[in-house]
Amino acid sequence: MSCAILWFRNDLRLGDHPALRAVLDRAPDQILFVYIWEPSEAAPWEPGAASRVWLHHSLLALSQSIEKKGGRLLLRRGPSLSTLRNLAQEHGASYVAWTRCYEPALVLRDTAIKASLESERLTVETFNGSLIAEPWEVKTTTGGPYQVYTPFSRAVFKLRERRDVLPEPRILPPAPREATSLQLEELKLLPRISWHREIEASWTPGEAGARRNLTEFVRNAVSDYEATRNFPALESGTSRLSPHLRFGEISPNMVRARVEEALREPNVGHSLGYEVFLKEIVWREFAYHLLFHFPQTTTKPLRPKFERFPWKDDPERLKLWQKGETGYPIVDAGMRQLWRTGWMHNRVRMIVASFLVKDLLVSWQDGARWFWDTLVDADLASNTLGWQWTAGCGADAAPYFRVFNPITQGEKFDPSGDYIRRWVPELSKLTSHVHHPWKSSVYTGGYPQQIVDHSEARDEALEAFARL
Ligand SMILES: Cc1cc2nc3c(=O)[nH]c(=O)nc-3n(C[C@H](O)[C@H](O)[C@H](O)COP(=O)(O)OP(=O)(O)OC[C@H]3O[C@@H](n4cnc5c(N)ncnc54)[C@H](O)[C@@H]3O)c2cc1C
Repeated sequence: MSCAILWFRNDLRLGDHPALRAVLDRAPDQILFVYIWEPSEAAPWEPGAASRVWLHHSLLALSQSIEKKGGRLLLRRGPSLSTLRNLAQEHGASYVAWTRCYEPALVLRDTAIKASLESERLTVETFNGSLIAEPWEVKTTTGGPYQVYTPFSRAVFKLRERRDVLPEPRILPPAPREATSLQLEELKLLPRISWHREIEASWTPGEAGARRNLTEFVRNAVSDYEATRNFPALESGTSRLSPHLRFGEISPNMVRARVEEALREPNVGHSLGYEVFLKEIVWREFAYHLLFHFPQTTTKPLRPKFERFPWKDDPERLKLWQKGETGYPIVDAGMRQLWRTGWMHNRVRMIVASFLVKDLLVSWQDGARWFWDTLVDADLASNTLGWQWTAGCGADAAPYFRVFNPITQGEKFDPSGDYIRRWVPELSKLTSHVHHPWKSSVYTGGYPQQIVDHSEARDEALEAFARL
């Protein structure tokens, strides 16, 4: 009887899963589906608190789907190599497969694990299940990595080879009866204090939730995406697929295929929405391309001269920003949406990030760390790109002299003030002054004073940047 191991990581789904297809081909009799929780103080970017909440529910959903089809998900805790090795020895597995990761520390770890297992006569195969184009698949004309988005996206769209979406298997082989698993609760992914209830109420982690989300977005909203995507008050202005993509509950290949399929349906006229949406998916690809080729960028600016930037060490202001108490309504609305739901709209991410690095002169690394802990979609590649882009120190970044004005950004992208009123209840009675409550005579329930004057802060930032 042949036995194989499928090691789940950031690919918590059964559909469009090349590594799953491979283990099914190799070992139709017995499969050890395993997820290994390997928390380590040494790993600088182990999942933050909000991501762990998501992971808990995503593992629950995956394990239920596997069980419905006849298999069993084994949960283990500890070093990945010894866990895989022991599993293989205990159950006589000779084949191991997994989906490739691209984060620098994981690339090193996985390369070592593969070599070690192979030296013990196991066959190991790894697959691309998380990207449309793996970081080495597209190259500039001189053979190097891209640092500018537009030519990168053109190269990705030109890629000839397209993988068909793999169907979800109807049945799965059982795990050996004696194979043991921890209970999900034993991984201790949920926080001890219950700050996460609203996160749980806001989302449906797991493959079914991801597919529903994609279907509804493509059916109802993608055609208007170009017009709606910058307005945070619109619930379905964007897809909200990011945490599902982050945990691999859906693949970008499925997203691309679903959008292209919709475009082929009768009565679907050409709309910029589809195109722009696919381009956003390619921003995620770009983020992975950069992270893979410039692994130092998780902590260091891509453009070295920015290493000398005189950031302020200002824990008090950083705290006010984290709590959404800066006195700038759109910034505070975003930071409170993040704390309560684990997610923030992209436009608002850019505004709050710009406010931290340019108005408060607090480093982008401090901002990235807070996002890492509080976002359910916290993703090392996209988070690093987003912060370096905003700070002006990354690839294809916003020029440093582009300082978002948090008041006019609010007026432009939340013109009715609905988004602000929703997340900042102190301002719920304001209408015309919702973007500048200090001008209003209506009681604003203790809403804080502005912690900096934007125009003075802007001048200070520009001077500091000019000195570079
Ligand atoms: C400072 C900052 C930090 C960010 N941190 C993260 C992060 O940790 N994880 C994360 O997934 N995204 C991050 N982003 C990118 C972006 O804000 C989110 O992907 C987006 O808001 C997710 O919402 P959505 O799924 O509704 O997006 P949609 O607008 O529906 O876009 C569809 C998908 O395209 C991808 N995408 C869209 N915009 C970007 C982008 N600018 N960069 C990379 N991928 C993109 C995402 O996978 C997204 O789910 C960050 C942006 C900024 C400015």
